[in-house]
Amino acid sequence: MSTLLEVSGVSVSFDGFRAINNLSFQIGEAELRAIIGPNGAGKTTFMDIVTGKTRPDEGRVIWGERSVNLLKMRESRIAREGLGRKFQKPTVFEDQSVHDNLLMALKNPRGAFACLFYRPSRADRTRVAELAQEVGLEDALHRISGELSHGQKQWLEIGMLLAQEPRLMLVDEPAAGMTLAEREHTTELLVNLAKTRAVVVVEHDMEFVRRLGCKVTVLHEGSVLAEGSLDHVTHDPRVIEVYLGR
Ligand code: ADP
Repeated sequence: MSTLLEVSGVSVSFDGFRAINNLSFQIGEAELRAIIGPNGAGKTTFMDIVTGKTRPDEGRVIWGERSVNLLKMRESRIAREGLGRKFQKPTVFEDQSVHDNLLMALKNPRGAFACLFYRPSRADRTRVAELAQEVGLEDALHRISGELSHGQKQWLEIGMLLAQEPRLMLVDEPAAGMTLAEREHTTELLVNLAKTRAVVVVEHDMEFVRRLGCKVTVLHEGSVLAEGSLDHVTHDPRVIEVYLGR
């Protein structure tokens, strides 16, 4: 598997406190990876750094076959390079249909407002239907998004992210607040998505990570503490100490 994202020697301090400390690891093309770690481990700061929201003090984040350093780019340019982020809380347009939310995401460069007056082409409608199908919302295409379940809103937002055709999706706690059935659908969805793009899931819920069945990176105090299968890392005495030892 060739490397898509390489985080190399990245550090950042906030008021003298080192939130990310010489962090290095790699994500492959079309890899599914879970990032776990206790509160304050640096998971959110890591996502902020690779998406360009936070500038680190040192290090590099190398991307793609051209090996560009993402840290030299603005947030919007990084998104155009194909790095998409889904925040924990769904932020769909609640008064718009599933169809219109997906259309807005598809036509995002024109801006959401312009889309209110946009007449979708046949190709747009086909793509919107494909996106809905990809996330399992094909039967809800004309429903108002505010009426969807929490899980459906999360899938809609994943569909909106897919409209941007990311090469890597960063997904923050996708299963939080979901019913068991929704969690199962989400597992299947993420595993399927990772067949054709990289998906990095930041997660607290170990049972959900177990279902994903992927390689796990454990962060602690802004560095990688352990990496490997979930079984491997959860038997690592350092990981046990961090989670249970204090
Ligand atoms: P996680 O997402 O793993 O819970 P965070 O990345 O949010 O961890 O935080 C890592 C550490 O950095 C925490 O101790 C947090 O308090 C600190 N931190 C994060 N952002 C800031 C900030 N903007 N200013 C000061 N401290 C911060």
